[in-house]
Parts: sequence; structure tokens; C-alpha cells
Amino acid sequence: MNMVDIIIKKRNGGKLTNEEIEWFVDAYTKGEIPDYQVSALMMAVYFQHLDDEETLTLTKAMQASGTTIDLSSIPGIKVDKHSTGGIGDKTTLIVAPLAAACGVPIAKMSGRGLGMTGGTIDKLSAVPGFETAIEPEDFLENVRQHGIAVVGQSATLAKADKLMYALRDVTGTIEEPSLIASSIMSKKLASGSDAIVLDVKCGSGAFMHDEQAAIELADKMVRIGKGAGKQTVAVITAMEQPLGCSAGNSCEVVEAIETLKGRGPEDITELALHLSAVMVLLGEKASTFDEAKEMTKRALADGSGLSKLGEMITAQGGDASILDDITKLPRPAKAFEICSSNDGYVTRLDASLVGHAVQTAGAGRTCKEDEIDPSAGAYLYHKAGDPVRKGERLARLFGNDEVKIKAGLNDLKNAFTIGDDAPEKAPLIIKTIGLEK
Ligand code: URA
Repeated sequence: MNMVDIIIKKRNGGKLTNEEIEWFVDAYTKGEIPDYQVSALMMAVYFQHLDDEETLTLTKAMQASGTTIDLSSIPGIKVDKHSTGGIGDKTTLIVAPLAAACGVPIAKMSGRGLGMTGGTIDKLSAVPGFETAIEPEDFLENVRQHGIAVVGQSATLAKADKLMYALRDVTGTIEEPSLIASSIMSKKLASGSDAIVLDVKCGSGAFMHDEQAAIELADKMVRIGKGAGKQTVAVITAMEQPLGCSAGNSCEVVEAIETLKGRGPEDITELALHLSAVMVLLGEKASTFDEAKEMTKRALADGSGLSKLGEMITAQGGDASILDDITKLPRPAKAFEICSSNDGYVTRLDASLVGHAVQTAGAGRTCKEDEIDPSAGAYLYHKAGDPVRKGERLARLFGNDEVKIKAGLNDLKNAFTIGDDAPEKAPLIIKTIGLEK
């Protein structure tokens, strides 16, 4: 096979065969094809796209290019959850324990954050002692014993995706939906769960700004999942403003704990109950969505979700006393507030600008080697739709580095638009795709 022929075929709008796709993924992973040829192919795909069959073949080839996790020794239907990423998105810290408390085995691999959206692993790393890099046998044993483990993604999972993502990142080809869908799904399939729940975010703080584009991406991923024989459901959710009131790492752990105690913000609670109910349904612990939702509400109300989080923290070497004493989590040395300059309503709260502010304050990375400040973050006293008075505080930005915090304050201030009239309330959960019961 010849890479130049493959590039020209796709450039001219042709359909690649399974053999051509499998060949180039394998050869590229082995270092036998140079980056410039794969870049050219990615650009051809960007303009000519991949159909469903090509996308599924690419996904499976990337899945097979690295380590795959075998969860078959764990009894029950293992359900994974993935978010395309957003500001203040601490849902995994809530939905994984809630679903596990309802009997669904959770063997989850999560990523670290890059850019303004934080990663679950960074949030969990804020918990004193919590180990995110545990041996594969211990990972499986923890799921067997406790019904839950959340660890960092193995560096060799879907190796071809890692290589191709790095190329796409610097060649203007990230945005092609078939490449995004195959990239995400190759890692989910390699992670070994039987069913997958996808939280596809749309809005200013998400990868997909446009609702229709998010729905199309979600549809594609559901078709890939089903094509690979995995039950897959996608929930399209709004990311126009941050989720909950906290964005950062340590502060998001606090908000997740509060939510599991039944005292969390309304939006994060609504989303966590919805996503965990989908997981309970796919895990066949309930026969209808309504029954699943009742179970997750009970796990929230009776504290069993919170206990499951504590059990997981202890099992992974962390200090579970943080559940009762949040002062044991990293705390910021400095904080600055911004206040409203008018009376009115918050008509818009731009998630992207909040994300930039939080990243600048030290909570995020601009390159993957950056150290983050786990104590850094923002607290939002007001969200879109809330009335405010002149001089009232809108938000707080905090961390350990005063210079960085001050550098982020302008973005945080600009994130708020104050107007005279209350805006219409936009739904948080826009659509659920692939749910049959
Ligand atoms: N996340 C991924 O894992 N891959 C993409 O291509 C985009 C977002």
C-alpha cells in the first residue's frame, strides 16, 4: 500500500477501504509513515470527511493500536461516562459514586486537563494522598471490591489517537467531526466498559459552540458505539455558562462533596442525577429511566453516593476525612472579588471567559508539562438569570499566586453581562440520544 495514493484518493473525495485505513493507522503507529503525510491525509479528511463505515474502521484501528483494558473478570455491566469537557464540570466526581452506589461497576479512566477545561484526574489529585496512577491489577481489584475506581488514562491507550491528536492540534484539523468522534470513541472502546454514556457539551465553554454541531457529533459517536457493539447514549448539555458555582480543582471537589450531601447547586444536581440514571439504566439495575432516576435520587438522599466516594478515596490511598473536613483540601492563600457596577440581571455569564480566568489564576495548563495550583479557581456568587445590585459581589478568583490571580480578573469581570431584563432560562439538558427505554 502507498500513502500517497491514499492521500490523493481522499483528497479527490473517494471512500477509503477498511484495508487502507487499517494499514495507515498501523504503519503510522509503528513510525513507518512521516507526520507530513498523515497531516496531509488529515487535511484531506477535514475537507472531504469520512462516512460512517470509514469512521468506525478508523475508530477500531486506533482502539487496537495500543493497550486495551479487559474488564471481563469483573461481574456485571460496566458503564463508562465521558464528557467532552466544560468549565466547572465536576460531574464524574458525583455520577460515578452515585451509579456505583446503585450497583453499577465503574472502572473509569480519566484524563488530565489541558487548556481551560479541567480534567477529573487533576481534581482528584487535589485530594491528599489520592493515587491516580495505580497498577492495572489493583485497578481491577478495586472495582471488584468497591464497585468503583477512577484512574489516569494509560499513556499507551489508543496510541495512534495520541499521535494523530498531537498532529491535528498543530495542523488546523481538530474540528472535523469524524476525527473528533473516532478519537474520543477509540479511547472509550479501549477502556473496556460494556456501555458508554457521553455528555456532549455545547456553548461558549465547550469544544462545540453550536447546538446542531454538538447533536451531529453526539449522533456520530452513538453510531460508532453501536457499530462496535456497545450500548451508547449521548446527552447534549449546555455549556454556555459554567456548571455549578465553582471552577478549579480543589474547589470543585468541595462542590462535588456538597452535591453528594444534597446541598449542591441546582444545575449540577440535575445533570448528575440525569447522567447517573442513564448509567443505572444501561447497567441494567433498573428497567426504566424513571426507575433509574428514583434510584439515583435515593443514593443522593440517603448518603450512599457520598459513602461510595469516600470508599473510593480510601481504596486509592486518599484521605476520606475530607468529606467531613474540607479544610484538609488545598486552600488558596489569596482571593480577589469582582462586583457589579449596575443594578439589573446577569443576562450572560460566558463560560469561556471564566475558564480563561481560572486557567490564568493557576488552575489550568497551557502546555502539558505545566504544574497546576490545585487551590486556584473561581467561585460564582451569581449565575445567568440572577438579579444583582450595584456593588454586590459577582465572583471571586483565588489561588496562591497574586500576580496570576490579578491577571485573570479582567476575564472574570468580562464574563458577566448585566442588563435590565431577566433573560429567558435556557435548558441545561438539551437532548438525549440513543436511550431506548
Ligand atoms: N477530545 C478527544 O479526545 N479527541 C478529540 O479529537 C477532541 C476532543
